[in-house]
Amino acid sequence: MKMLTDKFGRQITYLRLAITDRCNLRCQYCMPAHGIDIVDRKDLLTYKEMYRITRVLSELGVNKVRLTGGEPFVRKDFIHFLETLSFNDKLDQINITTNGALISKHISKLETLGIHAVNLSLDTLKADKFKQITRRDVFEETIQTLDKLLASKLTIKLNVVILPGVNTNEIASFIELTKNKDIAVRFIEEMPFNGTGLRKTDEVWNLDKIYAEIQKSYKNIIPLVDKKSSTSKNFKIDGYTGSFGIIPAFTRTICHDCNRIRITATGLFKNCLFDDGVFNIRDFIRNGASDDELKELFIKTVQQKPINGFVAEANRKNKKVSESMSTIGG
Ligand code: SF4
Repeated sequence: MKMLTDKFGRQITYLRLAITDRCNLRCQYCMPAHGIDIVDRKDLLTYKEMYRITRVLSELGVNKVRLTGGEPFVRKDFIHFLETLSFNDKLDQINITTNGALISKHISKLETLGIHAVNLSLDTLKADKFKQITRRDVFEETIQTLDKLLASKLTIKLNVVILPGVNTNEIASFIELTKNKDIAVRFIEEMPFNGTGLRKTDEVWNLDKIYAEIQKSYKNIIPLVDKKSSTSKNFKIDGYTGSFGIIPAFTRTICHDCNRIRITATGLFKNCLFDDGVFNIRDFIRNGASDDELKELFIKTVQQKPINGFVAEANRKNKKVSESMSTIGG
């Protein structure tokens, strides 16, 4: 089987696939209050196209898929797509990133389908601050979903974007969630993908600053061995059930063994989060490309994968990094 390997010898085994650019929330660090200019439905990849792209990539060694958005559960028939995708026996893991407001009624079905992990985006444990950050009033639903997910067989991770001056005083509260719960809390550096570009903040909360903040409250931190191509640096508090991690998404110190590619909801292929797209797979497919032509294209395109996110950013056609994360898929 031909494998997807870039010119630096990194093997690509992980696809992040965006199901839609639509979302039911309006998180400050992702899009403006009025939302984004969503694309026409006909410009979104169909589920059939998504299934085909995933199958072809899985025949090139991709064995892990993360389904993202926008919010994947706002797209009609998403559960049916999951069902279809679960028949692809070349996939070891199907994971989902969600804001949790719409997932509650589907949790038992996700268990049945063998979904591996659900990453829940939750940036505060306070209802008023939740409304401030997301500009929506669904805090209770999201917390109920968290409890239901923790009671399920699914692997649960909590994604917390660290927002200077907004939720930095809740870092310890999030870590306390790991005391008795088998959950992985991951603190993510804020990024400029918010529809306007990098926020002007007095403080930059990068991995080192977040870790230093944690050390103020905890003396018994145990570093964990990170899995290959892990996006986070992982730790646990001695005696606690769960773990926490820090994702240096903006400082980009994790690129050396990056195994990821992304495909946006409109079929834009991204070799790196920070590039502005390399090729449009949707149009290639709709122009009648065969599976072999698709494979050739993927192999050739991955060869162009930049060594790290800084080179990817420098090579962008549109130099300003500001597109909403809802158009990329995270
Ligand atoms: S910045 Fe780009 S190269 Fe680095 S880890 Fe992220 S996707 Fe991979």
